[in-house]
Amino acid sequence: MLGLIVVVFLLSFTAFFFKKLSMSGSFMAFIVGTMIVYGLQLEGLVLLGIFFVSSTALGAFFQKKKQNDIVEKGDRRDGFQVIANGGVAAVCASMFGVTNEPLWVVAFVGSLAAANADTWASEIGTLSRKKPISILSFQRVERGTSGAISFLGTVASLCGAIAIAVPAVILFESLISWTSVYIFVLFVLAGWFGSTVDTLIGAFMQNVNECSVCQRKTEKRYHCQQKTIPVFGFRWITNDTVNLCCTITGAVVAVLFI
Ligand SMILES: [Zn+2]
Repeated sequence: MLGLIVVVFLLSFTAFFFKKLSMSGSFMAFIVGTMIVYGLQLEGLVLLGIFFVSSTALGAFFQKKKQNDIVEKGDRRDGFQVIANGGVAAVCASMFGVTNEPLWVVAFVGSLAAANADTWASEIGTLSRKKPISILSFQRVERGTSGAISFLGTVASLCGAIAIAVPAVILFESLISWTSVYIFVLFVLAGWFGSTVDTLIGAFMQNVNECSVCQRKTEKRYHCQQKTIPVFGFRWITNDTVNLCCTITGAVVAVLFI
């Protein structure tokens, strides 16, 4: 296990070096990775790696095509983002290490499937040629707006869940006694459900600010060098809070359906 923890350390440092994670982000990634290694050893780390690499690669690949003017944070993830995406998985993995109860493995995969579904949906969904539709007003809104859906984003969300569900079934077959097809469907549903809850909370409760200079709606606290004015939602419900709800939902749904 010590060897794997060294691997986690090196990966966290590499992500920091290549500016994929901030200092706090790589520190939290180390904690999350260590907790997952503690409970689920190499198999857990592989699944976490698939999530991190696929979402980072998508982000980097589509970077140029994306306009990053709306979302609060850039592509370099900080500690809060890491906890929002991987914290629930880390806790579930550790709980499996303590209790040996396979339901924690199911919850672990469910939360990662949700995090991946959500990341793929937002990375690929923003590429949709048509502007997405807000599920709040049913009107077309700016790409990247929280709580907006597009057909492409929905398909991407399902693919993101499948990208975790397939390796998870192979990796954890020996730990989970339910039939493979059943848990595969379950993981995909949990991931898709989590990302849908993400969209709903994003639409109905997430904080939206307005720039007093250019009047654009944004998640940022500052825009055009001016402090933005909150115009919608709860101030404390940020993208990180929404992502945390998404991963919790993924974990809970996976366990409930089983
Ligand atoms: Zn502005």
